[in-house]
Amino acid sequence: EAKENGSAQYRFYDAASDQTSLEQVMLERDLENAIANGQLRLLYQPKIDIRSRRTVGVEALVRWQHPLLGTIPPLKFIPLAEKSGMIVPIEQWVLRTACMQVKQWELEGSEVVPVAVNISQIHLMKPDIYQSIIDLLQELDFPPSLLELEITESAMMHNEEHVIRILENLKQVGVSVSMDDFGTGYSSLSYLQSLPIGCLKIDRSFIHKMATDSDSRAIAEMIISMAKQLGLDIVAEGVETEEQVAMLRHLECYNAQGYFYSKPVPPERALQQMTDIPAS
Ligand code: C2E
Ligand code: MG
Ligand code: MG
Ligand code: MG
Repeated sequence: EAKENGSAQYRFYDAASDQTSLEQVMLERDLENAIANGQLRLLYQPKIDIRSRRTVGVEALVRWQHPLLGTIPPLKFIPLAEKSGMIVPIEQWVLRTACMQVKQWELEGSEVVPVAVNISQIHLMKPDIYQSIIDLLQELDFPPSLLELEITESAMMHNEEHVIRILENLKQVGVSVSMDDFGTGYSSLSYLQSLPIGCLKIDRSFIHKMATDSDSRAIAEMIISMAKQLGLDIVAEGVETEEQVAMLRHLECYNAQGYFYSKPVPPERALQQMTDIPAS
């Protein structure tokens, strides 16, 4: 009987892994046409000033609406897109859609706030990324100061010179850059100082453990005071509880993003949040 179980288990695992690769193949194939088929959409998560509870910016987060598989989260298809190179047209679509959305919100009566777009390392390494962003901003007549790029710590460390040059050029024209998921990589202080970035986003793993784990709290505290000394803005990611908000306030970190305030939401809902006067 044990043997039968064993082989049944074997068959089970085998089937599961077959299914995974089949799914991967299907996703890779379908991703090629996802833009043309209108299957990508953006959700927006507000960045909140915890003192006024007002929206001070939004982050665009991509979703793939697959006809058979439903909504596919970015962590499931961005890596595939990076592998196949589709990440570049996808992020060009994200940039365009996010900028157009801000203009649309403005038409609908919202205060304008900057929109942040996540940029993958693969895209950042493209020699023409700077020019293509400039072209887009010109075509849409979009103020560069309303566009922010979020780049992970590890992507920034990848090819220092190229990356620094691109970021410096972007900064020159007014596009700002944030370091995303900060604290998960290995940036040194002096390296941080050499980068033309305007903001650090503290990774949500520290925020999550901050209330219960003194090491995480110490790290968050250190990141915040270091950012201040370097003159960088700071955003706490993944804020979920009142207690975390209180701790951030105490540490004088006033910008937060997280489910406590709002999940990523469709554009109409984001507009509502921006135009509602928050109860304080
Ligand atoms: P990220 O840029 O760090 O974005 C934050 C992620 O954390 C989002 O997940 C958001 O929904 C989630 N989040 C926000 N607040 C909370 C919270 O309070 N609790 C928890 N548990 N999670 C929270 P999402 O939308 O699934 O995106 C995951 C990642 O996918 C993003 O992490 C980003 O790295 C990547 N991504 C999304 N869109 C793009 C894109 O257009 N290009 C690239 N390269 N990456 C993207
Ligand atoms: Mg981000
Ligand atoms: Mg992040
Ligand atoms: Mg993160």
